[in-house]
Amino acid sequence: MKLQSQSPIKSLGRRAFLKNGALVLSGLTFPALRRQVSGAFDTNQRGAVRIGLVTDLHYADKPPAGSRHYRETLAKLKEAATQFHSDRPDFVVFQGDLIDSGKSLAQEKTHLQTVVNAISAIPFPKYYVLGNHCVDQLTKNEFLQGVGQKESFYSFDRNGYHFVVLDSCFKSDGTPYGRKNFKWTDANIPSEELSWLQVDLKQTMLPTIVFAHQPLDLKDTDAHAVKNSSKVRNVLEQSGKVTAVFQGHSHHNKYSEIKGIHYCTLVAMVEGSGLDNNGYSSLDVYEDGSLVLNGFRKQKDYHWS
Ligand SMILES: [Zn+2]
Repeated sequence: MKLQSQSPIKSLGRRAFLKNGALVLSGLTFPALRRQVSGAFDTNQRGAVRIGLVTDLHYADKPPAGSRHYRETLAKLKEAATQFHSDRPDFVVFQGDLIDSGKSLAQEKTHLQTVVNAISAIPFPKYYVLGNHCVDQLTKNEFLQGVGQKESFYSFDRNGYHFVVLDSCFKSDGTPYGRKNFKWTDANIPSEELSWLQVDLKQTMLPTIVFAHQPLDLKDTDAHAVKNSSKVRNVLEQSGKVTAVFQGHSHHNKYSEIKGIHYCTLVAMVEGSGLDNNGYSSLDVYEDGSLVLNGFRKQKDYHWS
């Protein structure tokens, strides 16, 4: 029913550190854009799987509000596309909030069409995670049709790794988001999806990476949290297979480790004006289980082994 589809490491921020005696520099920004993480890992040598990551684009044809510069997402995407052209990821994951609200349903559909057109410049397989802003006025089916994807939660395998995409855009009563029927603070993974996740993780023999929009490493009561995060984490932990969870939603770099699983919140592309404030990354997953996240612009680097 779901696409049957497709592991790990330790956090370090934007700074120099020593790894096996080798100086590792992380977190530099453009124009020295790529491969700043080096040392024990020759990161020019690609991992078993290389993944492009982008989150919280919030594209909309409207003036900036606060720190969110909606129209600039198109230029920022273009820069990410150029980077991915040289990085050649196996696939790119868009971690949610592709669009922002329009004055009407028709305008929101236009926002989606515009951002999807911009994304088409990235010639690699693409996977989408639903964000609350993706399905504000649009129904899930309308959004999924717009991006050419069948399911909102699913899994797949690639080169010795299993990847799971979760959908937390459900109200606490299990109703899917859409047509402005929800509060963004009421994000949940309903029991049906949780059961699917449990079975999916049981069936795979592979180390697993999870992609989600709303964070799973916060207290259940936190405004940004999936409200049943602790239950979801339990399923991830019990499986013994999940090495890392990548997430968005709160727009800021954040990292935590809970019971051996890395939770990495990626910076939002929409935040700040100008390419200096862009944010996206390339994740290399190595055969030995190490993960290296090469962050560009505002996105932090991480290296877990
Ligand atoms: Zn967002």
